[in-house]
Formats: sequence, C-alpha cells, structure tokens
Amino acid sequence: MSKIIRAIDSQGLVRVSFIDSRDMVEEARRIHRTSPVATAALGRTLTMTALIGSGMKDKRDTVSVFIKGDGPLGQIVTTATGDGTVKGYVANPAVHLPLKSNGKLDVGGAVGKGSLSITMDLGLKEPYCGQVPLVTGEIAEDFTYYYAKSQQIPTAISLGVLVDTDYSVKQAGGLFVQLMPGCDDETAAIIEKNVTELPPVTTMLEEGMSGDLIVTSVMAGLFFKDLDGAEYNYKCDCSREKIEKALISLGEKELIAMINEDHKAEVTCRFCPEVYKFTEFELIELLKKAKTK
Ligand SMILES: [Zn+2]
Repeated sequence: MSKIIRAIDSQGLVRVSFIDSRDMVEEARRIHRTSPVATAALGRTLTMTALIGSGMKDKRDTVSVFIKGDGPLGQIVTTATGDGTVKGYVANPAVHLPLKSNGKLDVGGAVGKGSLSITMDLGLKEPYCGQVPLVTGEIAEDFTYYYAKSQQIPTAISLGVLVDTDYSVKQAGGLFVQLMPGCDDETAAIIEKNVTELPPVTTMLEEGMSGDLIVTSVMAGLFFKDLDGAEYNYKCDCSREKIEKALISLGEKELIAMINEDHKAEVTCRFCPEVYKFTEFELIELLKKAKTK
C-alpha cells in the first residue's frame, strides 16, 4: 500500500501532495522484472500518475500517461484511477545503461527525446488530452514542463526511486506542489524557498521523514489544512472479457489469419503476468462476433 498525504493552504492557493510509493513501484518491478534504470523510469512515472489520480473527484475517473521517447526503453504507459489503483509498463524493461558521471541512473538517456501525453477521462463527453515535448526525459522535469506549458500552473515536482544492490526498490516517492491561479508573489516565494531547501525525496525517505512531516515542511510559514488522503496499489483490472473485446476489435482479417496460421492465440497482458489462451474454436466464435459488428 502506498499512502498519499494531501494538504491545501487556508486561502486555497497552494496544493501539496506526497506519496511514499515504494510498495507500488516494487510490485511493478516484480511483475515486469525491470532493470534498475527501467525501474527508475517506470517507478517515477507510476508515482506521478498516482499523485495526479489522487486529485480526481470520482472513483471511476482515470488518468493515463504516455511517454514516447526514442531511447532504448521505448514507450512508458501508466494509468491510475480515482479508486486508488495504478498500473503501467515499459516497452523494454531489461535495458541496462552505464551510470551517469554523478553515479545516478541514466533515466534521461534511457527515455531519450520525444513527447509526454496525459489523457484524463473525467466522465465527460470527451476525455481531456494534453501533450508536450520531453525536456530531459528525467520524468519530473517533463511533468513540471507539462503543467507550466499545457495547464499554465506553476508546479514543483520531485520524483525519486532508489534501487537497492539486489535491484529491489529501497525507496520511492513523489512530491507534487501546485500554485493555483491567483497565488500572490509572497506566498509563491515562501513555497519556492521551502521546496528548494528540501533534500531529494529518496533522501528524506531514507532519513525516515514521514509524509506528514514532508508536507508540513513545504507549507512552513502558511496556514493549511489536510485534505483527504488516498491509498494507491499496483493492480491490474484485466479480464478474459476485455481481452476478447480487444481480439474482436482487431477485425475479421486478423482473426482469420490467427485461425488459419496458428489455430490458437495466446495473449499476455501488458500490465500484469496474466496469459489468456484461446483455442481455434473460441477464435471462430470471436470471428462470428467480429462479423456481426
Ligand atoms: Zn493484467
């Protein structure tokens, strides 16, 4: 379970949320058997996606993030829902890259150049989509740029994943600070100073700082109140029904090719290890449904 602590200042000008996402990132690593640099890239993205998800009002609301870079990791895809679940994958989870000269994992090099897109489905007629080019591929900077450019909201985003010597996730967390429209310069200056003085997220977690203390440190000098927190877990909601629908949507031509060439199909979920097997007979049944569509 990864817990999110949220707070807002008394004037409604500053929103802060913090997540200790170790459990969720470790679960993703276990499922996808990610290399350290892939764990960091996917982990930072999952962490941010959960932070965005925790701000959604309805349990059925969803947010999906697509990071399309030209680096060796390939695409990163993550989704969070308002009910506290998050899932994701990276196209090439086994990529290894040399550490950077400062000894850190080269997430930017592994992601490369490309774009960051966010799709929010808030139960309205059309989902909301925004896209920006990647700034560094280090993820936190890219999300910060997204909010500045596409939402015109000044934010401070800090995301960290510390991988242990046995490749398990030692610490993971994220801090998301948003200045709302109408925020005065004085308040903005206080927040900026507080945020700048904080150590990196994984350092704070290693030192045993609680989420409450981290949020309080960001808000120091302002009156604020806690908002409802949230709990996020890595969980996949795939089902045989959903996979059947996906197969039907491939269309008649693809299904006929599967039937004639392979006489069966095996579909592995991208988000979890589940494998769905279909016999020739079952594929013929799906083909009938595809024809009536
Ligand atoms: Zn699944």
